[in-house]
Amino acid sequence: MKVYKFGGASVKDASGIRNLAKIVTEESDNLVIVVSAFGKTTNALEKVLKARLNGEAGYADLLNEVYIEHLSVITDLFGQGSEAKGKIDFSFALLRDYLLSSLIGKYDFEYDQVVSYGEIWSTTIVAEYLKKNFQYGDWCDIREILLTDDRYRDANVLWSESAKRIKSTFDFSKGRIYVTQGFIGGTTTGHTTTLGREGSDYTAAILGNILDAECVVVWKDVPGILNADPKWIPEAQKLEEISYREAVEMSFSGAKVIHPKTIKPLHNKNIPLYVRSFLTPEEKGTVIKVDAILRKIMPVFIKKEDQILISILPKDFSFVMGDNLSRIFHSFISHGIRVNLVEASAVSIDVCVDDERPKVDSLILDLKEEYSAVYNENIEMLSIRHYTPEARELIIKGREILIEQRTRSTVRFVVRKETGL
Ligand code: ASP
Ligand code: MG
Repeated sequence: MKVYKFGGASVKDASGIRNLAKIVTEESDNLVIVVSAFGKTTNALEKVLKARLNGEAGYADLLNEVYIEHLSVITDLFGQGSEAKGKIDFSFALLRDYLLSSLIGKYDFEYDQVVSYGEIWSTTIVAEYLKKNFQYGDWCDIREILLTDDRYRDANVLWSESAKRIKSTFDFSKGRIYVTQGFIGGTTTGHTTTLGREGSDYTAAILGNILDAECVVVWKDVPGILNADPKWIPEAQKLEEISYREAVEMSFSGAKVIHPKTIKPLHNKNIPLYVRSFLTPEEKGTVIKVDAILRKIMPVFIKKEDQILISILPKDFSFVMGDNLSRIFHSFISHGIRVNLVEASAVSIDVCVDDERPKVDSLILDLKEEYSAVYNENIEMLSIRHYTPEARELIIKGREILIEQRTRSTVRFVVRKETGL
């Protein structure tokens, strides 16, 4: 069996769903299809929730816009009065009722209860379409089988219980294709959780691991994994194969192709991951696998935007590397801030992190009790794997470099954002 994952861009309209159907019907193997919310639905639902929690009555209109978008896809696919419409109407009514009730108000919890509907709607419509036209496509509610802890918005999978349920659910006794949701899961007490933004790739990897898939295929609107974002470097080229290690390094450095958690479950079972284009499904795309050969070693360029560079100095001029180091990193962890790069000298340490303001502000306050802590904003982190002098020149020409770090395979620069002059 294989796991196919379709992201929001692939199912943003009726023609996207017809294209999905064409791709999955041309596959002869058994399939579990993991689908994200349509297009920008997740963002739209985030706005609905924010408005609702701020007590703005306009949240209902925002939700109605999302409803109208789904309805127009349904009408295009099924005409008037379909079973799909009945199911979607019912599900929207549940969400409207939920939003009318007195929410418990914990943001992360409410986020998961509300935003998860996007995946329920998209998969319901996709499954109905497959069933009506091809007599298969069993819809499965993953919240009952992909169990997680209750760390809302960033839930951890409970692997052994999930494995039991997932294996017995996806046994292909009902047909060749199952359709299920990416990104969401459920606690043992029946509450919905999510795995972090863009988490459906991770869902596909979890299912691939548990079901011992022959491969996982992520269908995107790009021809595969490129060696740079073409909006940044127009000469970007496709990578044919890369190793799991390379993929992890790329996503750690900020490449947005694959959700960072995706690789481990596949690596652990040696399952190849294909990144292919739903626009040109006849093409091979990129494969991530264990014995990948970088046929031609190409530099890979990665940009991480919206960074802050924090500089920390012990007030008493003591060495930073001793006890201070553990105290400092403990603060980062306890504020939930991921460290992207560290550069230490004898008496100071510079740390590059994502610009997540309220969190960073409270971290700085905390550090200031014992240290002098200042930060630079409008920072970017640029990395080149397999760097060459030409590659370096290409991206840092004329830019102010605050930090440069190199290993044998990677060079990283912390630079100020270009002002666009
Ligand atoms: N729909 C979710 C998001 O946009 C999950 C995903 O697409 O992977 O973040
Ligand atoms: Mg999405």
